[in-house]
Amino acid sequence: MALLVQEYLDRIRAEHADAADGALADYIPELARVDPAGFGVSLSSSDGFVYESGDAGVEFTIQSISKAFTYALALDRIGEVAVDARIGVEPSGEAFNEISVDETTRMPKNPMINAGAIAAVSLIPAGSADERFALIHDFYSACAGRRLDLDVDVYESEKATGSRNRAIAYMLQSFGVLDDDPDEVLDVYYRQCSLRVTTTDLARMAATLARGGSNPMTGRRVTTSAVVKRTLSVMVTCGMYDAAGDWVSAVGMPAKSGVGGGIVAVLPGQLGIGVYSPLLDDKGNSVRGVRLCRSLSEQLGLHFLAVSRESRAAMRAVYEPLEGVRVYETHGDLSFCGAEQVVRTVDREMRGFDVVILDVSRVDDIDDAARGLLSGMSKILRAQGKTGYVVDPGGIMTDTEAESDGVRFRTVDDAVAAASSR
Ligand code: GLN
Repeated sequence: MALLVQEYLDRIRAEHADAADGALADYIPELARVDPAGFGVSLSSSDGFVYESGDAGVEFTIQSISKAFTYALALDRIGEVAVDARIGVEPSGEAFNEISVDETTRMPKNPMINAGAIAAVSLIPAGSADERFALIHDFYSACAGRRLDLDVDVYESEKATGSRNRAIAYMLQSFGVLDDDPDEVLDVYYRQCSLRVTTTDLARMAATLARGGSNPMTGRRVTTSAVVKRTLSVMVTCGMYDAAGDWVSAVGMPAKSGVGGGIVAVLPGQLGIGVYSPLLDDKGNSVRGVRLCRSLSEQLGLHFLAVSRESRAAMRAVYEPLEGVRVYETHGDLSFCGAEQVVRTVDREMRGFDVVILDVSRVDDIDDAARGLLSGMSKILRAQGKTGYVVDPGGIMTDTEAESDGVRFRTVDDAVAAASSR
């Protein structure tokens, strides 16, 4: 069966295999030494199954894709407020290595351009540059599910030629954004950019974000869903530099590219994608990588804003097992919109029953907003002289009033029996 998906992937990759436009990044001599023909893609499902096509086993340096993960680590370690005090979240519309800060805040505009990424490195609390790099290295490795290696040649090459990044780091220091020694921070930044990954590593790192921060392969929770939400938000608006608008329109996934030729793309809750092709366009994004992602999105329907249908109805069935007793059976994942639908339906039909039984036994997941709305319902029912019961064998409505009222049942039959003997 996996063959079916494999064929899709091979076919979509083959559509772009012959394209040879773009150029290798050569601002670091070492980066120009890779095979320009390399072209691979990996796709990880949200439960960690990986499909690969082409050069999925070839290692290349992660480069700017690292920025998304170091930003996540900074958020994880010191929290959003402290990170926001140093790095903005506005798209810059500038090249990745622009020597610039926001005119009014004097902070880097976002963490996906070099200025913001260098600042993010400095926010990882550590006693030394080595310790800081170790934390970053561990974090990326935990997301990938294997220990990543450092490309020492690329690191040294980048360090030897990094005047522009040095300009940025010293500028940040002068604006009070960097507290630490700029050269030490840069050293860590160069090392993080020089970690080697394959497209499969990237797909797994993406899947870790798609899963809200837990690695589907290892099962390890790497960070929180709040950190992931913020990271993906910034990837949407700033991940592809000044091509972010084109990317969101055509591909529609939070993503990050690097001059090593890699792109990581995330479809929240669903999958992670890693692609590699080192020939870059003038914005520094992989030419074939962008095209491949575009085709994947179009042909597999992956655009995160595609509205293919109304979100699945929360109500599975409504029936009356006894005169005056009505059962509302819900299912799926209940969030605000689903709960709103339930509350409004019950409200509209209230004149037709004396007892309402809300059956949540088939609900997979419920969030606080939905729980709050549904538990508020029992109060309103009582005020109208009605009785509300909840069938909740799994206890997903725990802490609600329904529970403290003692009107929680394990089965609909139990609830109906209670209603008839009132
Ligand atoms: N290491 C590179 C730099 O700082 C990363 C750039 C990139 O991938 N866009 O210039």
